[in-house]
Amino acid sequence: MEFVDSHCHLNLMPSEMDIDKVIENALNNGIIRIMVPGINIETSLQAIKLAEKYQMVYAAIGIHPNEADNWKEVSFKILEELSQHPKVKAIGEIGLDFYRDHVPPSIQIHVFKEQMKLSEISGLPIIVHSRNAIAEVIKYIIEWKHSKIIDVNGPSGVIHSFEGNLINAKQIISQNFLIGIGGPVTYKNSIDKHEICRDFPANSIVLETDSPFLAPHPHRGKTNEPANIKFIAEKIAILSEKPLKWIAQETTKNANKLFAWEQ
Ligand SMILES: [Zn+2]
Repeated sequence: MEFVDSHCHLNLMPSEMDIDKVIENALNNGIIRIMVPGINIETSLQAIKLAEKYQMVYAAIGIHPNEADNWKEVSFKILEELSQHPKVKAIGEIGLDFYRDHVPPSIQIHVFKEQMKLSEISGLPIIVHSRNAIAEVIKYIIEWKHSKIIDVNGPSGVIHSFEGNLINAKQIISQNFLIGIGGPVTYKNSIDKHEICRDFPANSIVLETDSPFLAPHPHRGKTNEPANIKFIAEKIAILSEKPLKWIAQETTKNANKLFAWEQ
């Protein structure tokens, strides 16, 4: 079985972790591709370095909402240049975070919109972070999609670590977006995520670990790594009453379509 980890911060792993070993574990557990998103310019550059070093690794570049107060006029130009690297396959992670409240919402919204513009110019999909902000994220995505002159062929992006309910999931899928499902689906209290996985259209989900965060049960609380993707896939297989092999196939196909990388 082959899996894709569509959201994995190899650029934020604790320093004691040996990345060679993490990659080897991933390969031994059927992971064929790993997407590493940046959260600011520095970690975007690190994502590109990792993608240059490991064949299976690809990079996304962008400014996270919690870092949005570092946005300067020149940031757009810098990111635009980085977006031309052959292993950069997405703009991310970008979005809104009204939970942590590090940055005023008006700044977050401006930086989110600027980077959606960059997606349009570069033709790359977006990786969206949404925390306590799903209604606003959906609103700005719909606005953006309506204003776009050119649309990409594949999916427009993914809402990573999807926080909404089934109704939100259907709204976002109708905008040609995918939803990222990670470790929290294995937690007992994730009622909304369980419902989505029971009732999702097969072509709308990608798997993610969000390593080093959000380790799935039975590793909850420990440092997460891509090799743990199987616990997430197994839980989705149980919830959706589909074979694990089918979940692997469909989610891998979706990720390949999203990031349009060499297969
Ligand atoms: Zn992330």
